[in-house]
Amino acid sequence: MIALDRSEYLSLGTPDWSSGLAIPEQRTIYVDEKDPLLIRRVIPHEITHIILHNYLGFDHYTIHWINEGLSIYEEMRIWTGQDKVVITMENYKPLPIEDLILMKPYIFSSKDTIVVYYQQSASLVSFLINEYGMDRFRDFLKALKTRTLENALKEVYGIQSISELERRWKAYLKRATPTPIR
Ligand SMILES: [Zn+2]
Repeated sequence: MIALDRSEYLSLGTPDWSSGLAIPEQRTIYVDEKDPLLIRRVIPHEITHIILHNYLGFDHYTIHWINEGLSIYEEMRIWTGQDKVVITMENYKPLPIEDLILMKPYIFSSKDTIVVYYQQSASLVSFLINEYGMDRFRDFLKALKTRTLENALKEVYGIQSISELERRWKAYLKRATPTPIR
Protein backbone atom coordinates (compact mmCIF):
# COMPACT_ATOMS: atom_id res chain seq x y z
CA MET A 1 0.00 0.00 0.00
CA ILE A 2 1.67 3.20 -1.16
CA ALA A 3 0.28 6.28 0.55
CA LEU A 4 0.48 9.50 -1.45
CA ASP A 5 2.04 11.43 1.43
CA ARG A 6 2.82 11.36 5.13
CA SER A 7 -0.67 12.30 6.28
CA GLU A 8 -2.27 9.55 4.22
CA TYR A 9 0.39 7.13 5.55
CA LEU A 10 -0.49 8.03 9.15
CA SER A 11 -4.22 7.84 8.44
CA LEU A 12 -3.70 4.10 7.83
CA GLY A 13 -3.14 3.66 11.56
CA THR A 14 0.65 3.39 11.36
CA PRO A 15 2.74 4.51 14.38
CA ASP A 16 3.77 8.17 14.19
CA TRP A 17 7.43 7.27 14.82
CA SER A 18 7.52 4.87 11.85
CA SER A 19 8.39 5.34 8.16
CA GLY A 20 6.99 2.01 7.03
CA LEU A 21 4.96 -0.88 8.33
CA ALA A 22 4.93 -4.54 7.31
CA ILE A 23 1.93 -6.83 7.85
CA PRO A 24 3.59 -10.16 6.99
CA GLU A 25 0.41 -12.24 7.34
CA GLN A 26 -1.07 -10.20 4.50
CA ARG A 27 2.23 -9.81 2.62
CA THR A 28 1.55 -6.10 2.74
CA ILE A 29 3.74 -3.11 3.44
CA TYR A 30 2.62 0.46 4.11
CA VAL A 31 4.91 3.21 2.88
CA ASP A 32 4.79 6.90 2.00
CA GLU A 33 5.50 7.65 -1.65
CA LYS A 34 7.04 11.05 -0.82
CA ASP A 35 9.50 9.68 1.73
CA PRO A 36 12.97 10.66 0.42
CA LEU A 37 14.41 7.42 1.88
CA LEU A 38 11.69 5.18 0.42
CA ILE A 39 13.88 3.25 -2.03
CA ARG A 40 17.16 3.25 -0.13
CA ARG A 41 15.87 2.46 3.32
CA VAL A 42 12.18 1.89 3.90
CA ILE A 43 11.43 -0.69 1.21
CA PRO A 44 14.51 -2.91 1.88
CA HIS A 45 13.65 -2.79 5.59
CA GLU A 46 9.97 -3.69 5.26
CA ILE A 47 10.56 -6.37 2.60
CA THR A 48 13.07 -8.05 4.97
CA HIS A 49 10.31 -8.28 7.60
CA ILE A 50 8.02 -10.03 5.12
CA ILE A 51 10.70 -12.46 3.89
CA LEU A 52 11.88 -13.36 7.40
CA HIS A 53 8.35 -13.86 8.67
CA ASN A 54 7.53 -16.13 5.76
CA TYR A 55 10.76 -18.05 6.32
CA LEU A 56 10.28 -18.58 10.05
CA GLY A 57 6.54 -19.12 9.72
CA PHE A 58 5.82 -17.38 13.00
CA ASP A 59 6.47 -14.22 14.93
CA HIS A 60 7.05 -13.90 18.65
CA TYR A 61 8.04 -10.86 20.63
CA THR A 62 11.15 -12.59 22.04
CA ILE A 63 12.66 -12.84 18.54
CA HIS A 64 11.39 -9.46 17.37
CA TRP A 65 14.83 -7.94 18.03
CA ILE A 66 16.27 -10.38 15.46
CA ASN A 67 13.57 -9.44 12.96
CA GLU A 68 14.12 -5.72 13.52
CA GLY A 69 17.89 -6.03 13.68
CA LEU A 70 18.11 -7.94 10.40
CA SER A 71 15.75 -5.48 8.68
CA ILE A 72 17.95 -2.57 9.76
CA TYR A 73 21.10 -4.48 8.77
CA GLU A 74 19.73 -5.06 5.23
CA GLU A 75 18.50 -1.46 5.04
CA MET A 76 21.96 -0.20 6.03
CA ARG A 77 23.65 -2.40 3.43
CA ILE A 78 21.55 -0.86 0.66
CA TRP A 79 21.82 2.65 2.09
CA THR A 80 25.61 2.63 2.53
CA GLY A 81 26.34 0.43 -0.50
CA GLN A 82 28.55 -1.74 1.75
CA ASP A 83 28.43 -5.51 1.78
CA LYS A 84 28.97 -5.60 5.53
CA VAL A 85 27.90 -2.97 8.01
CA VAL A 86 29.08 -2.52 11.58
CA ILE A 87 26.45 -1.01 13.87
CA THR A 88 27.62 0.04 17.32
CA MET A 89 26.09 1.75 20.36
CA GLU A 90 28.06 4.98 19.98
CA ASN A 91 25.96 7.71 21.64
CA TYR A 92 23.38 5.19 22.89
CA LYS A 93 22.99 3.66 26.30
CA PRO A 94 22.24 -0.05 25.83
CA LEU A 95 19.43 -1.83 27.63
CA PRO A 96 20.17 -5.08 29.47
CA ILE A 97 19.73 -7.73 26.71
CA GLU A 98 17.25 -9.67 28.88
CA ASP A 99 15.04 -6.57 28.91
CA LEU A 100 15.46 -6.01 25.18
CA ILE A 101 14.34 -9.57 24.46
CA LEU A 102 11.28 -9.34 26.68
CA MET A 103 10.23 -5.94 25.35
CA LYS A 104 7.01 -6.08 23.38
CA PRO A 105 7.26 -4.03 20.20
CA TYR A 106 4.73 -1.26 19.56
CA ILE A 107 3.95 -0.74 23.20
CA PHE A 108 7.21 0.97 24.09
CA SER A 109 7.31 3.27 27.06
CA SER A 110 8.93 6.21 25.28
CA LYS A 111 10.38 7.39 22.00
CA ASP A 112 13.89 7.19 23.52
CA THR A 113 13.34 3.51 24.29
CA ILE A 114 12.21 2.85 20.71
CA VAL A 115 15.39 4.42 19.34
CA VAL A 116 17.62 2.36 21.65
CA TYR A 117 15.63 -0.82 20.96
CA TYR A 118 16.16 -0.44 17.21
CA GLN A 119 19.82 0.54 17.47
CA GLN A 120 20.67 -2.24 19.89
CA SER A 121 18.77 -4.90 17.92
CA ALA A 122 20.68 -3.86 14.80
CA SER A 123 23.97 -3.84 16.68
CA LEU A 124 23.42 -7.36 18.02
CA VAL A 125 22.55 -8.71 14.58
CA SER A 126 25.53 -6.94 13.01
CA PHE A 127 27.72 -8.49 15.74
CA LEU A 128 26.44 -12.02 15.01
CA ILE A 129 26.83 -11.61 11.24
CA ASN A 130 30.22 -9.87 11.22
CA GLU A 131 31.81 -11.95 13.94
CA TYR A 132 30.59 -15.41 12.91
CA GLY A 133 29.54 -15.02 9.26
CA MET A 134 26.32 -15.03 7.27
CA ASP A 135 26.22 -18.82 6.93
CA ARG A 136 26.14 -19.26 10.70
CA PHE A 137 23.47 -16.56 10.92
CA ARG A 138 21.38 -18.51 8.40
CA ASP A 139 21.86 -21.63 10.54
CA PHE A 140 20.74 -19.59 13.53
CA LEU A 141 17.53 -18.50 11.76
CA LYS A 142 16.92 -22.11 10.72
CA ALA A 143 17.41 -23.29 14.31
CA LEU A 144 14.91 -20.70 15.53
CA LYS A 145 12.18 -22.47 13.57
CA THR A 146 12.25 -25.36 16.01
CA ARG A 147 14.33 -24.22 19.01
CA THR A 148 14.03 -21.65 21.74
CA LEU A 149 16.24 -18.59 21.42
CA GLU A 150 18.58 -19.89 24.14
CA ASN A 151 18.93 -23.31 22.51
CA ALA A 152 19.50 -21.84 19.05
CA LEU A 153 22.28 -19.62 20.47
CA LYS A 154 23.84 -22.64 22.20
CA GLU A 155 23.69 -24.97 19.20
CA VAL A 156 24.80 -22.57 16.51
CA TYR A 157 27.15 -20.20 18.33
CA GLY A 158 28.12 -22.10 21.45
CA ILE A 159 26.76 -19.15 23.42
CA GLN A 160 25.52 -20.70 26.63
CA SER A 161 23.26 -17.95 27.94
CA ILE A 162 21.88 -14.50 27.28
CA SER A 163 24.46 -13.05 29.63
CA GLU A 164 27.23 -14.70 27.61
CA LEU A 165 25.74 -13.13 24.47
CA GLU A 166 25.86 -9.78 26.26
CA ARG A 167 29.50 -10.26 27.30
CA ARG A 168 30.64 -11.28 23.81
CA TRP A 169 28.71 -8.43 22.17
CA LYS A 170 30.17 -5.84 24.55
CA ALA A 171 33.70 -7.17 24.00
CA TYR A 172 33.09 -6.91 20.24
CA LEU A 173 31.85 -3.31 20.56
CA LYS A 174 35.14 -2.29 22.19
CA ARG A 175 37.04 -3.15 19.01
CA ALA A 176 34.33 -2.30 16.44
CA THR A 177 34.36 0.78 14.22
CA PRO A 178 30.90 1.72 12.98
CA THR A 179 30.32 1.88 9.22
CA PRO A 180 30.02 5.60 8.46
CA ILE A 181 26.70 6.94 7.24
CA ARG A 182 26.27 10.25 5.57
ZN1 LIG B 1 11.00 -2.79 11.25
